[in-house]
Amino acid sequence: MASRRPRKAGEMKRIIIAGVGFAGISALKHLGEFTGTSPEFEVMVFDKNDYTTMIPSLPDVAAKRVGQNLPRADIGGLLPRRVLFKNEEITKIDFDAQSISVGSNDYGYDYLLLSAGSITNFFGFNQHLSSIFVLDSLTEALKIKEAFGGYLSNRESPTLIISGAGFAGIEIACFLNEYAKANSKTIKVILVEKTARVLGNLPAAVGGYVKSLTSDLGFDVVVNSSVISFNGTDVTLETGEVFEDVFFVWTSGTKRAIEDISGGFISLPDGRMRVNEFLQVSGYENVFAAGDCAAIKSGDAYLRKAVAFSVSSGATAGKNIVRSLNNTPLKRFRPVDLGWVIPMYPSSIGKLLGVPVRGRLGLGLHYLTCGYRTHDLESLRGYLALGLRNMIGAG
Ligand SMILES: Cc1cc2nc3c(=O)[nH]c(=O)nc-3n(C[C@H](O)[C@H](O)[C@H](O)COP(=O)(O)OP(=O)(O)OC[C@H]3O[C@@H](n4cnc5c(N)ncnc54)[C@H](O)[C@@H]3O)c2cc1C
Repeated sequence: MASRRPRKAGEMKRIIIAGVGFAGISALKHLGEFTGTSPEFEVMVFDKNDYTTMIPSLPDVAAKRVGQNLPRADIGGLLPRRVLFKNEEITKIDFDAQSISVGSNDYGYDYLLLSAGSITNFFGFNQHLSSIFVLDSLTEALKIKEAFGGYLSNRESPTLIISGAGFAGIEIACFLNEYAKANSKTIKVILVEKTARVLGNLPAAVGGYVKSLTSDLGFDVVVNSSVISFNGTDVTLETGEVFEDVFFVWTSGTKRAIEDISGGFISLPDGRMRVNEFLQVSGYENVFAAGDCAAIKSGDAYLRKAVAFSVSSGATAGKNIVRSLNNTPLKRFRPVDLGWVIPMYPSSIGKLLGVPVRGRLGLGLHYLTCGYRTHDLESLRGYLALGLRNMIGAG
């Protein structure tokens, strides 16, 4: 384990939280309760935005189903007492030096929680990236919202190409297709998937159901293939097929949001940090990771990236930092999987508490869950209304 940074007499112990999303906020609740009454500790939280986002609602924003305020809550209103918020982007972390960097400024820490989530992974693809749309933040969802309507209205035969048939790709395909229909436009939708089937990380039966649903919608799903070139307007697939003048969305994969981290840790190919049962990053007892940037083993596999696991791992990491400060034994993280729902507007597929859910019911439950997870009263009202409207088929 790494040695602690040298401390001057009387200096406070500093805890830094890197990223105020689901995991970061959850950790803050527990940390804030403790440090708010303990003047010998200071908590600094960093986020590149001054708001936190209900990421599962990004397809709704992109397809103009909800306004941009519904999925966002100001970070300032969520902070416990005596927590210092820095609205800055962390550019570098050095575990051995126990410091994070924001441009040319360095901040030392005694404990660090990595909770910066994940961003789009282009896997080295670098052709005309500024003309490719992604779906990993509110800003990016708004770019789709701004551009898609104009694209549709100026084209005789619009074509939507989605690279990646995981849940994000399928969701955005369904939402944008419905948007086109609502605007009396027919759009050709092509989902391109490198592996042999859609939703490869879920049971084969789920992939089969989704494939039949997307084929009912008229989508083409091209498996075992990928986009090999893009000239800014036309896409060429590995199969040799060329699609001209497309609206191109890339959802093929994600990677750790803060890439430049030095230290002797172990990470998965997507950059997630291997953590132990207490959520400490391997090799560093004062560094914890939670949410999308943590590789958390559950049985033989790693937990999927999901809101529920981000919230619960953030809570355990926050509590374990408090236990470390108190020199009390750490508690193991025990994830509970209540299930999942993939909104495929106007339908859905999912399994909650072991019970399959489909259609409008699943969609309604998805919005109710967003309401349950939001931090803003107006957003709570909005999601409840959406959930109920969808359940009765009026969404
Ligand atoms: C389109 C889409 C739909 C999804 N739908 C669902 C769903 O229906 N259900 C579900 O369970 N999961 C869903 N997920 C996955 C889920 O959103 C993530 O697992 C979850 O958001 C991860 O939480 P987190 O706290 O790790 O990160 P986030 O919630 O992403 O928070 C990370 C925070 O870190 C900040 N940050 C990032 N980089 C930096 C930096 N360098 N410096 C400072 N701050 C930084 C960000 O601004 C952000 O506030 C979806 C994901 C996507 C992309």
